[in-house]
Amino acid sequence: MTSICLNPDCSDYRKKNTGQIIKKGFNVKGNQMFKCKTCGVRFPETKGTVFYNRHLKEEQIIMICKLLVEKNGVRAIERIMEIHRDTVSDVIEDLARHAREVTDLLIKNVGLTRIEVDEMWSFVKKTKEN
Ligand SMILES: [Zn+2]
Repeated sequence: MTSICLNPDCSDYRKKNTGQIIKKGFNVKGNQMFKCKTCGVRFPETKGTVFYNRHLKEEQIIMICKLLVEKNGVRAIERIMEIHRDTVSDVIEDLARHAREVTDLLIKNVGLTRIEVDEMWSFVKKTKEN
């Protein structure tokens, strides 16, 4: 769950555990909305996070990470998850671009180990070189 404010103009921007983020209804897509009490801005849970993709849900992106840990390539992920390989490649590119943040989230929020995440990155690197 998002507990950071995603408004760059806010004094609490990206600060963790401010206690200022409250749940605030749902948007038209049914996503949980949050509101920052400091700046009053509302945002959906996944907006601005590395697990946000216009085609996929956060859970699906996390699943892709787990499949990468197990050394499944783009085509294998396409087959397992029935997601087009272009979308899978897109997600992997995106993850690689935010590597530090993704590493953090996978360890803290998803429960992967540092070793698993390191292995995922070396596998991703190889995948991209091919
Ligand atoms: Zn704020």
